[in-house]
Amino acid sequence: MPYLILAAVLGSIVLVGVLAIVLAIVLAAKKKGQRPPDDVPYTVGGPVPQSYAKRRGEAGESAVNELLGKDEDGVRYVFPDYLIAWENGSAEIDHILVEERGVFVIETKTYAGTVYGSEEEREWRCVTRGGNVHTFYNPLMQSRKHAEVIRRILPKAVPVYPLVVFADGDISSLNCPFVFSLPLLKGAIASFPAGKLDRGEIRGVARGIAEAQGGITKEEHAARVQRRTRMIELGVCPLCGCRLERCDGGMRCSSYPKCKFVKKN
Ligand SMILES: [Zn+2]
Repeated sequence: MPYLILAAVLGSIVLVGVLAIVLAIVLAAKKKGQRPPDDVPYTVGGPVPQSYAKRRGEAGESAVNELLGKDEDGVRYVFPDYLIAWENGSAEIDHILVEERGVFVIETKTYAGTVYGSEEEREWRCVTRGGNVHTFYNPLMQSRKHAEVIRRILPKAVPVYPLVVFADGDISSLNCPFVFSLPLLKGAIASFPAGKLDRGEIRGVARGIAEAQGGITKEEHAARVQRRTRMIELGVCPLCGCRLERCDGGMRCSSYPKCKFVKKN
């Protein structure tokens, strides 16, 4: 009888031992199967991924689009993402608005942070909350260039106004005319003198702008910008192919004044 009890006790011990080993193996296997998550968020305050910046930009442009409203025959025409061939290159304009006050050429910017700059400064800065500084080309200068391109295709009497709208970002430190935040854009447009164009003229101007647009794709635009930059880097005039020479504050075409190409530093 004592042998039987001893056998039962020993059996139980062995059984518990085996169960413990099996449990340890199962737990180890389960732990091995767990992996760190792949979608680790990017560092706060670090560089914003390109796709995110692009989405921001697109959201800003669609907000402006919504604000400008729908086309209305003889009253208002809006041209978003307007591409036009120009000086052996091309210009991409975020929005053109045609209405009774004239033509508004609008450059949309979307930046997260505080924007600093002035009318004369070539480079503007955006400082993020994390302290990162991003510099970009003065958007009013950019918009003025675009307005010049549009002026050339329209009768001289049509007023063309370059504007800049910030769909995001703090621009309260800016001291620059013709630059507005999104909520102020409509009021800004309304502050220009009304009644400059009648319904027929509005239609005519819009037709002229629509006809000048044709025949260039986004890819062609990008290729033209690249070609133009490369020609200037090589010291070749992108307008006529002549040699470029140094002049006060930049480069100009050696066949000046016959060719008017000038590139400011
Ligand atoms: Zn030239």
